Amino acid sequence: METATELDSSLTCHHAHWAKLRQDLHAHPELRFEEERTADIVARELETLGYTTVRGIGKTGVVASLPGANPERGIVLRADLDALPIHEANDFAHASRTAGVMHACGHDGHTVMLLGAARVLKAMPQLPGTVHFVFQPGEEGGAGARKMIDDGLFEQFRTEAVFGMHNWPGLPAGQFGLRTGPIMAAGSRFRITVTGRGAHAAQPQLGLDPIPLACSMVLQCQTIAARHKDPVDPAVISVCMVHAGDTDNVIPETAELRGTIRTLSSALLQKLQHDIQIMCEGLATGYGARVEVQFFQYYPATVNTPVETAMCETVLRQTFGDACVHADVPPNLTSEDFGFMLEERPGTYVLIGNAAPDRAPAGLHHSTYDFNDDIIPVGVRYWVALAQRYFQP
Ligand SMILES: [Zn+2]
Ligand SMILES: [Zn+2]
Repeated sequence: METATELDSSLTCHHAHWAKLRQDLHAHPELRFEEERTADIVARELETLGYTTVRGIGKTGVVASLPGANPERGIVLRADLDALPIHEANDFAHASRTAGVMHACGHDGHTVMLLGAARVLKAMPQLPGTVHFVFQPGEEGGAGARKMIDDGLFEQFRTEAVFGMHNWPGLPAGQFGLRTGPIMAAGSRFRITVTGRGAHAAQPQLGLDPIPLACSMVLQCQTIAARHKDPVDPAVISVCMVHAGDTDNVIPETAELRGTIRTLSSALLQKLQHDIQIMCEGLATGYGARVEVQFFQYYPATVNTPVETAMCETVLRQTFGDACVHADVPPNLTSEDFGFMLEERPGTYVLIGNAAPDRAPAGLHHSTYDFNDDIIPVGVRYWVALAQRYFQP
């Protein structure tokens, strides 16, 4: 067994390589399911370490396995590969070289931390069970996790539990957050199309103005969010787009609202969708207009299971000390497609602090965000400790 000191020196001496690779990935971001270059680099790194890689699961996904003594047992450690359609505002040397595309969620860092873990674990004595390193495409709105599952991820790679990690600028570097139960939200998007009858702006009696009706629907969405559910069960309904009309002297024929719902359970998501539908139809009928309400499912809630989360908490406390572990962090209403994996297998998704002590962190999905390379060895250490602990009796 590698000692803590040997692991320390291994992490330290490879840090420059991983930081350089992370910055290279940052400079060459790729959008969901277009992660060809990134997947090539991941596969090359893994093959250099002696792994056999499997490509093409979930289109651009990459998987490599470290066989354990018992082939019946296996876990997935998962990172995501994709970037976002954001124009980077940073001007440092490794800023994005692709206009309008940016690693603003730190998936470049997630990828490198998992590669680091693959390197360290490969050099250690064989584990009792198999570790599958899963590099997943299309997390940002592409449901790449679902696509990998649909492509047979869990049939091809025997998996009894799944583990994920996301950097979190709201936590200081070196600290972790986790909780049993939902840690991120279920989400759906909606489009409400109200159809009235167009007319001259000065002759509303000849038409049926959809705008006041649409405005009522916006306000009623807030009433549903506030009054149709248990107040201690979080949910948000945000109407984010309001479109009607082309000029200031014509009552338009239609008005369109678009927005997002987030909850911590699929059941509440279904209920709020139902209530929005009923409300819109009722208001439209009373007004004499027509309405079409469409929902587009996004991601399920990311729900951590109790046994695996207690184990992860123990691993984190033993590896980093009690002061670095925030058990029972509040859930976030952001969404994460790792929720699809947690629907299929037990497991845990943790937050790894990403805030450097000397500068205010930019938030995720912000044009000035950058992954903090100082946490690469921290993330590697967690993955390694988790893999070692998981298969212990
Ligand atoms: Zn993101
Ligand atoms: Zn992300």
